[in-house]
Amino acid sequence: MTETEPTVFAPDEKQDYGDDPVAVRSTDHYTNEYVRGFVSKWDELIDWEARAKSEGRFFIDVLKARGKHSVLDVATGTGFHSIQLLKAGFDVTSADGSAEMLSMAFQNAADRGQVLKTVHADWRWLNKDVHGKFDAIICLGNSFTHLHEENDRRRALAEFYAALKHDGILILDQRNYDAILDDGFATKHKYYYCGEQISAEPEYVDDTLARFKYSFPDGSEYHLNMFPIRKDYTRGLLRDVGFQQIHSYGDFQEEGEEKSPDFFIHVAEKE
Ligand code: SAM
Repeated sequence: MTETEPTVFAPDEKQDYGDDPVAVRSTDHYTNEYVRGFVSKWDELIDWEARAKSEGRFFIDVLKARGKHSVLDVATGTGFHSIQLLKAGFDVTSADGSAEMLSMAFQNAADRGQVLKTVHADWRWLNKDVHGKFDAIICLGNSFTHLHEENDRRRALAEFYAALKHDGILILDQRNYDAILDDGFATKHKYYYCGEQISAEPEYVDDTLARFKYSFPDGSEYHLNMFPIRKDYTRGLLRDVGFQQIHSYGDFQEEGEEKSPDFFIHVAEKE
């Protein structure tokens, strides 16, 4: 486990999906998707202030209500949640499979007077690089849908489960792909990713691919190819891997309160 600034490497400025972008459906592709140009715009895309406002204390309250203190953020990205939780007094370890993202997160934390404990780790062999057991794991920002193969999803969840203490919890969120697959894309982009002038929309959707296009005010465009996981499918996987209780929230509300949420947040408990 490293506690110093991760090595910065600089992949290309441009994403490369080849001649047939919708044919790219591989779990391994995510490190190529987060090229430097995209990563450097990520915070502009996310709009930290608006995001903090819409999320409020949701994750802090879920963790505190269950007495959790040590947290592994497996999808650190540029560090939004890691830094929020550090500031709130949690003991946070920040992992990601993209060195580019970790480097950005480390800098974002330093700019806010915080030091991130970073680990460069892919979820599929997480416990090779992350040592120790945690009270909680967070996998947020629609990250889990980067896994294109079912084997990878099962394997990643098994690694998360193993990295948790006997009474640990996993908090994992996802877009409401049920609505996207069944009704078309109608999300208001209320909660995630969008600053005032930035659009995120699915360019192509079928049963095994949701290709999102992110457009920036300077005219640049980036894409992410993700697997559209349905809510009940994710809950089934969480149950299969051994989680005993799974509570799913819609846009931070109790299940059922929000009719067609943009996001689901699953809180899965080991006991
Ligand atoms: N959680 C952050 C947020 O909400 O802003 C980042 C979300 S970003 C959509 C997804 C992150 O998951 C990226 O930083 C990516 O590198 C990471 N990721 C995707 N697949 C991964 C894998 N197999 N192993 C480790 N990290 C992965």
